[in-house]
Parts: sequence; C-alpha cells; structure tokens
Amino acid sequence: MSFRFQLHQGTADGPRLGTLQTWHGNVDTPTFMPVATRGMLRGPWPDRLRPMGVEMMLANSFHLFARPGVETVQKLGGIHNMMAWDGPVLTDSGGFQAFSLAAISKLDDQGLKIEHPVHGGIVDWTPQVAFDVQAGLGPDVAMLLDECPADPRDLDLVSGAVRRTLLWARQQRDLHEKAGGVDRGQAQFGIVQGGVFAEQREHCAKELCAMDFDGYAIGGVSVGEGHDAMMDGVNHSTPHLPVDKSRYLMGVGTPLDLVESVARGIDMFDCVYPTRSGRFGTILTDEGALHLHNARFAEDPRPLVPGCPCDACATGVPRGALRAGLKSKELLPPSMLAHHNLHYLVSLMQRIRESLRDGSFEALRAAIRKAYLKKS
Ligand SMILES: [Zn+2]
Repeated sequence: MSFRFQLHQGTADGPRLGTLQTWHGNVDTPTFMPVATRGMLRGPWPDRLRPMGVEMMLANSFHLFARPGVETVQKLGGIHNMMAWDGPVLTDSGGFQAFSLAAISKLDDQGLKIEHPVHGGIVDWTPQVAFDVQAGLGPDVAMLLDECPADPRDLDLVSGAVRRTLLWARQQRDLHEKAGGVDRGQAQFGIVQGGVFAEQREHCAKELCAMDFDGYAIGGVSVGEGHDAMMDGVNHSTPHLPVDKSRYLMGVGTPLDLVESVARGIDMFDCVYPTRSGRFGTILTDEGALHLHNARFAEDPRPLVPGCPCDACATGVPRGALRAGLKSKELLPPSMLAHHNLHYLVSLMQRIRESLRDGSFEALRAAIRKAYLKKS
C-alpha cells in the first residue's frame, strides 16, 4: 500500500467523491478528522471511533513534542500505537497554535520562537524542526510549517505570510525529497495561505503546485472572519489546486461550514468544534444546535437526541440529568455530548457522500443551511 488520492466524481471547485489511500488504510472523502491534539480525544474513547465511522485522525506535532516528546512517543510504539488507533493519522505542524499564542511568539524567516508550554524556556520551531518532529512521530500525513496571518483581511500581513509560507515550503519540500519522498512512508501537504485576497490565494496555490506536494491544505481560515469571508478564502483557492490531489480545509467546522465547503471542492476537514461545543452544552441535531443549559431542558426526560444510534444517546440518560451534571461539572456529560456531536458530524459526512452518489446533495445542503445558517 502506498499513498495516493483517487477522484471518483467531481471537479476542481465543485463537490467531489474520492478515496485517499494511506499506509494505514483507505479513507472515503469528503471526510472529517476528529482532533486529538495531544493524542487523545476529549471525551470519546478510541475503540468507539471505528463503529462511529471515523476513518482518519488528527494530532498536533508541537503539543506532542512538548509532552510526552518524540522519543517517548516512539517508545510507546509510534503515534498510531500511542493513540490506540490503527487507521491513518495526520499531524499539524503546530504553526497555527503558535500564532494563536502570538503574544509569546517571535517570528522571522528562520522560524518561530515559542514558549515551551510544559517546561517554560524558548523553543526554536523552525521548518527543519517541524519536519524532523513529524518524521519522528510517524503520521501518514505531515503538514508544513506555515505562517498563519493574525488578520486574514490585512493585505500587508497576508502578503508577508504568503512570502514566508512559500520560503518555508521550499525548504521542507527539499527535506522531504532528500529523505526519500513519499516512499519513506509519510506524505507531505502544502498549505495555501492568502487570507481573503483572491490574488494572494492564487499566487500561493500556484507556487505550491509547482513544488508538487502529495496533497494540499487551505489554511488561515476560521480565525474569526465569519462564514462568508471563510467561503471566499475557499473560493479563491480550490480552482487553482490540482483536481487529482486531495484538499484539506484546516480547522473547519460546523455543519454549515462543512456542507458549504464540500460544495466548493474540499475533501478533508478537522475541527475541535464537536468536542468543544459538547463541553459547553451544545448538541448538534438536524434541526440546528440545541443548548442544554437552556432552562427548558431542566425537566426534559428524553435522551440527547431521540432515535440517535450513538453510544451516548443509546444510554438513555435524560437531557435534564445531563444538564444538571454539566452544571455540577461532572465528567460524564461533556464526554457524552462530545461523543454525540462527533457522531453527528461523522454521520453527516457519510450522508454527504451518499447524497453525492445519488444526486441529492443540494437537498441535504439546503436542509443544513436552513437548520444552521442563523443558529450556528
Ligand atoms: Zn447521539
């Protein structure tokens, strides 16, 4: 088994069906990757992921580097064994986390200086280090270190980030090729930056395509710019990416963001949204998001979502009991809500794939828009 993407249906900038072949099995796309930042999900147990329909997981290389460290991950049997997950894994480079901690980061053409989140002190997080750490952790797909501009609407910031992203991309592509390329058992995805600007996105995408990455991601979205601006970033990127390579929209999303991005040619997603929103008492349903803290659920004897086959709903624990438990900071309610929400999003991706096969995607898209456009 090697790494490749097969497109079964679709175009560069419209809805697509495909299969991503990896060393740890195949992934039907479009797909949603649950985020196990430190190698563990916040709630769902690893053995419940396959039954839920999960096919690929995401972890964060910077956080794993910080704790337990690359050598320890190797002693634990590598990233797949550590996560008790035998399917494919993608690791983020840690760049986005560094930029979200911008107050303690320094940035120049050499790389980032980031405060060590566990031991203190300063870490030099350079393109070489990001490459070496991911080579050591052993995911199926490694993401490039890139620069994510703090404000996607600031042209000066964005054009500087695109320049540095391309500089680092060339360095990391060279390292990948010197190490043996994709045949060494790890694929490498380039990341398109460019904020909300069409020319910047096109320039970045075309330069990356010339470097011939194994797949492509769209970064610098979902940083507070709003749904419409986020979709502009996607619209400005997907037409310039090769039709026969997978495209991954980083850090997205909500049900609305997922259907709208699939409509624009995205194959892969990741987001903490299902687990994080569950911790805050939000339940995802086909009628939109419900907020369990609302007083109307206090005496509601129904399970989270009646009829939902997920492990959390199947227990039958009533909404009112979970609401009380959330307020008392019990451990079980956040875990059960996270499990339900992840199940909902993974099932939504299955429904999206079925709808693309049978021609009903626009009807599903309209239903999700109706439920989530104002409520998400
Ligand atoms: Zn459920």
